[in-house]
Amino acid sequence: MATERLYYSDSYLTDFSARVLKCEPADGAWRVLLDASAFYPTSGGQPYDTGFLGAARVEDVTVNSAGEVWHTVDQPLPEGSEVRGRIDWERRFDHMQQHAGEHMIAGAIHRLLNGHTIGLHLGHDASSIDVDLPGGATRVDEESLLLIEDAVNRDIQRNLPIRCWFPDEAELSRLPLRKPPTVREHIRIVMIGDEECVACGGTHPARTGEIGLVKILDARPSKGKMRVTFVCGQRAVLDYRMRFEAAREAARLLSTEVESLGAAVSHQLEKTKEAERALGALRREQILEKAREAIRSPECLPNGLKAVACVFEGADAFALRDAANEITSAGLIALLSAGTQKGSLLLFAVPPSVPVSAGRLLSETCRVLGGKGGGRPDFAQGAAPGGEALKLALENLAREAAE
Ligand SMILES: [Zn+2]
Repeated sequence: MATERLYYSDSYLTDFSARVLKCEPADGAWRVLLDASAFYPTSGGQPYDTGFLGAARVEDVTVNSAGEVWHTVDQPLPEGSEVRGRIDWERRFDHMQQHAGEHMIAGAIHRLLNGHTIGLHLGHDASSIDVDLPGGATRVDEESLLLIEDAVNRDIQRNLPIRCWFPDEAELSRLPLRKPPTVREHIRIVMIGDEECVACGGTHPARTGEIGLVKILDARPSKGKMRVTFVCGQRAVLDYRMRFEAAREAARLLSTEVESLGAAVSHQLEKTKEAERALGALRREQILEKAREAIRSPECLPNGLKAVACVFEGADAFALRDAANEITSAGLIALLSAGTQKGSLLLFAVPPSVPVSAGRLLSETCRVLGGKGGGRPDFAQGAAPGGEALKLALENLAREAAE
């Protein structure tokens, strides 16, 4: 027997009595069927209500094709008994605000953009609808979104009546439905003011004023449609508060007003980029200076090879390359490293006139130390753990040259 849906006629009903028709165990919980229920079962994109049946906590509510509303509860209820149902009003009212706000956004999109809304997803934080736009468009400009948002909020402020009822076929045929109903019989209509009219089995407030506020957060292409994400009611208030506080804090940190935040951040980013450029140039100059100093006193190996072995703390691969160029231009072998958190970054370079392979020298050093790297005869780079790489490379260089 189909459950009598008490919320159809009164979405404000939070306390009711009903008879327990069935109670079945299900996955460590129980499923309860009542003769009548004010609990909304997940459907049409709107999530289920929570609350209590007697002392049993309602954890899920579903509806089957026979119109039976099943309540998942955490303890069994005696079949045949009368039970008192209580609905978590805060959750229900939040869903009513999101749901009615959705109707108004979909209605405004239809009137202003001739777009057709496909489905509602009432999410934990925000809700979304997918919109079919004329010509297969998947986005609209910012101005159109603001027009929709303004139209909706104006209608909220007009405090229009929201009426839900089951019309007979004759009346149904005369109604200005926004889209054809998805069900054939027991068609329930929700009408907001005299503009928005659609078939819907959900819960809505009695007047648009109770929605309070609607804010569109995002509209972007998704699977060939435009997905519009929004918040309504208290969620919109909390969203405003969150953004207000974030903007106020950012403005405080930049010693400016919220209105000037964009310009202040842009100015700050420009200053940071400039400082980074100056710092980069300074670092490079320091590294080159250190390389020039090292060139003045190279390691002279017994076999006549001359090399500069030098550690540049904090240098990156580009800076090491600059230093290596400076050293090889002076006719010297460059054995360079820079400390990183994982170990040493290594760069070996050999001038063209010297018959030594930088690649072979580096891979030999890395092999002994357990690192990785290699390269061409004139240039090679890699990484190895520990700080012994240059000492070992110098020893290898002396041996290699002597062969
Ligand atoms: Zn609805």
